[in-house]
Amino acid sequence: MEKKNIDWENLGFGYIQTDKRYVSNYKDGKWDEGALTDDANITMNECAGVLQYAQTVFEGMKAYTTEDGRIVTFRPDLNAARMVDSAKRLEMPVFPEDRFVDAVVQTVKANAAYVPPYGSGATLYIRPYMFGINPVIGVKPADEYQFRVFTTPVGPYFKGGAKPITICVSDFDRAAPHGTGHIKAGLNYAMSLHAIVTAHANGFDENMYLDSATRTKVEETGGANFIFVTKDNKIVTPHSNTILPSITRRSIMYVAEHYLGLEVEERDVYFDEVKDFAECGLCGTAAVISPVGKVVDHGKEICFPSGMEKMGPVTQKLYDTLTGIQMGHIEAPEGWLKVIR
Ligand SMILES: *Cc1c(COP(=O)(O)O)cnc(C)c1O
Repeated sequence: MEKKNIDWENLGFGYIQTDKRYVSNYKDGKWDEGALTDDANITMNECAGVLQYAQTVFEGMKAYTTEDGRIVTFRPDLNAARMVDSAKRLEMPVFPEDRFVDAVVQTVKANAAYVPPYGSGATLYIRPYMFGINPVIGVKPADEYQFRVFTTPVGPYFKGGAKPITICVSDFDRAAPHGTGHIKAGLNYAMSLHAIVTAHANGFDENMYLDSATRTKVEETGGANFIFVTKDNKIVTPHSNTILPSITRRSIMYVAEHYLGLEVEERDVYFDEVKDFAECGLCGTAAVISPVGKVVDHGKEICFPSGMEKMGPVTQKLYDTLTGIQMGHIEAPEGWLKVIR
């Protein structure tokens, strides 16, 4: 198979249309068999549920080429399971988990020419999603849905090394207690846009959201979970049922404990203790871990000892181990890599 003529190293994070996408429709209480299609456009009624009341959930994952030339994805079964949780919370029918993984495999296979080569740092981003498609005007769940998977090649997240970022404590809330913070739904992103545009306008890279009930505990950013490293090398991550359960973060906690022999804790993290940590990072599929150098709380700065030049040493070890597993130079735990071809 010949790769597309793309300047992989200089790709950004934008949409580039690839050849095929997967579509399955839900109607009369069941999903059809699903198929790949060339058509990147969706035609729907002006009153479609997704357009009026934002009934839509999504997932994000990557396919990449390992050192020995295989195309793999990372723990797609967890994305499938998470989409089930998201769908249930928004009163949508679940797309069966085995079919989710199969749809991802089919879509990546059909776009194999767009999977960036090993060593380029680029990856094929995979976006499964589902939405209510029939007309809905009274507020209620749709009766008909569409599940789709498309892919788009994206460049290396860090060009020229991972530089630590500066984040600010947000005046906005991301998630309400007993709300939808724990599911991957478009609505959580729509309402975060004003907060991120405001943060950028004030010169910050990201928002740190605190728990909306008490504004005392660290939750997450708009699209990534926190990990902290204590001065005695313990890995700490906030526990909260309004945080989106990041697959990257769960994998990092496993790697810390089972590959690096570090102590790990998932617990309440009070904002007051952030100043005592040695390192801080943001975990998500896009960057794996982006190092945080500084947190600014209304003019008061917390500067982590790891500084603004490079990742802290423990964060770096976690990053190297997890990316080593993903790229196939370190043996993966059973079932973590799904080989596509
Ligand atoms: C997707 C997402 C993450 C990261 O999850 P991964 O499974 O690691 O990609 C973290 N926080 C939010 C709010 C998200 O939507």
